Amino acid sequence: MDVCSRCSSTALFVQKDFDQRFGCAILAAGAAVSLGVSWRFGGIWFVPALLVVAAADFVLARRVAPVVICYQCDTEYREVTDLSAARAYDPHVAERFAETKTVRRMNP
Ligand SMILES: [Zn+2]
Repeated sequence: MDVCSRCSSTALFVQKDFDQRFGCAILAAGAAVSLGVSWRFGGIWFVPALLVVAAADFVLARRVAPVVICYQCDTEYREVTDLSAARAYDPHVAERFAETKTVRRMNP
């Protein structure tokens, strides 16, 4: 995955397709579940229940697939297996493409 199949640009960046609010919501729900468990089965179960939720959250965060995004046309590519050419988001490159987005280049 080193060339955009839509605009044939080679400027791509990769980021984790994970919503931080989603992770926070899971932790909040987990805390609520832990409170419910400790209320139902006794306070001794609060910490183990919270640990299980934290572990589930960790596994979920690890499973989140990276998403490759094209600077030029903003196309998102999921389920990309070849990340050898992937680089992290670079604001300088994005700035460069922000200009070319309005003025189409003749030779991309
Ligand atoms: Zn593109």
